[in-house]
Amino acid sequence: MSGFVYSEKPIAIERGEGPYLYDGTGAEYLDFGASYGVAAVGHAHPAVVSAVSEQVEKLTFVQASYPNSARDALYEKLAALGPGDLDNVWLCNSGTEANEAALKFARSATGRSKVVAAQRGFHGRTMGSLAATWKPKYKKPFEPLAGDFEFVPYGDEAALEDAVDEETAAVLLEPIQGEGGVNPAPEGYLRAARERTTEAGAALVFDEIQTGLGRTGALWACENRGVVPDVLTSAKGLGGGLPIGATLCADWIADDAGPHGSTFSGGPVVSAAAEATLSAIVDADLPGNAEAVGTHLQSKLGGSELPIRAVRGEGLMIGVEVGRGANAVLKRLAMNHGVLALPAGRTVVRLLPPLVVDESHADAVAEALGDALAEVSA
Ligand SMILES: *Cc1c(COP(=O)(O)O)cnc(C)c1O
Repeated sequence: MSGFVYSEKPIAIERGEGPYLYDGTGAEYLDFGASYGVAAVGHAHPAVVSAVSEQVEKLTFVQASYPNSARDALYEKLAALGPGDLDNVWLCNSGTEANEAALKFARSATGRSKVVAAQRGFHGRTMGSLAATWKPKYKKPFEPLAGDFEFVPYGDEAALEDAVDEETAAVLLEPIQGEGGVNPAPEGYLRAARERTTEAGAALVFDEIQTGLGRTGALWACENRGVVPDVLTSAKGLGGGLPIGATLCADWIADDAGPHGSTFSGGPVVSAAAEATLSAIVDADLPGNAEAVGTHLQSKLGGSELPIRAVRGEGLMIGVEVGRGANAVLKRLAMNHGVLALPAGRTVVRLLPPLVVDESHADAVAEALGDALAEVSA
């Protein structure tokens, strides 16, 4: 085989349905990482499958300078579902591209270049988004990156307020840090960021690539905090499994966004997939389900006798601080219990299941996690 970059797991996945994945022999895995958070509505959701099949036969692709009904329906849906007045939509192919666009639009609209981001933040792997990402290991081999980024400790209002000035183009934050360990913003933090950016004339950008689409109990995590940014980015689960990213902008950003473009922006097939995905999320009230099942799972884990140091998160974005190598626990979860999950740093097991899971799935995972923890210490 010739792949590189990823360390392969010894399970070949060939089929998926709802929260389950199957290998070639039919062995079943409960996908509590939703395949990097992508399977928000579950694998092979019937509405997404039929939207894609119908669209691919009708028109697989046309460039975005020609209006198209599938793309227009998605623009309309995202504008309607976006928080506040973020009615202007830019479509691309991934999370990192959605953040690249956010950074470019903010620079263009403000005429400034400095960006304030957070320690432990993660925003993607292309040069601009990588510059906004905290972890030195991800950045060092590729330096120099796109300059003028300042990092502040996440959750520290005073440090954020100090860092933002009349030269700041944007403040870029995750409402709950994902990769960085599942760290929810402390009460008042996002509001303070809103007030300071408004005062300084800078753009407030929320990266909701992991927190968005209902995962935290609201369609967007910022809605739980009552804060509307100037720019919001989405990706991961948005295409129901197909690659898409979106950058939602307020008028003052969109009006002066500068030249930008991408060949595959808003292709009809991914647009149809994303429209069907958003409808599935809203129609089945998946945010409500995420809230209910997430609360159940968090209290079950938090109230257990398991050797767990902390449980953090909102809805179905949960970090379990296991206080030992998370990867060893994850390996046993997968190999011995058929449960797939993700790490978030060295000591945190991250649960990001499809939003269609129910309490019985949550109970099974809590039990498997207890067994895996026991196996690691044995
Ligand atoms: C996954 C992720 C990204 C990057 O998305 P890609 O599609 O991998 O480029 C950016 N920000 C956050 C918060 C993410 O979780």
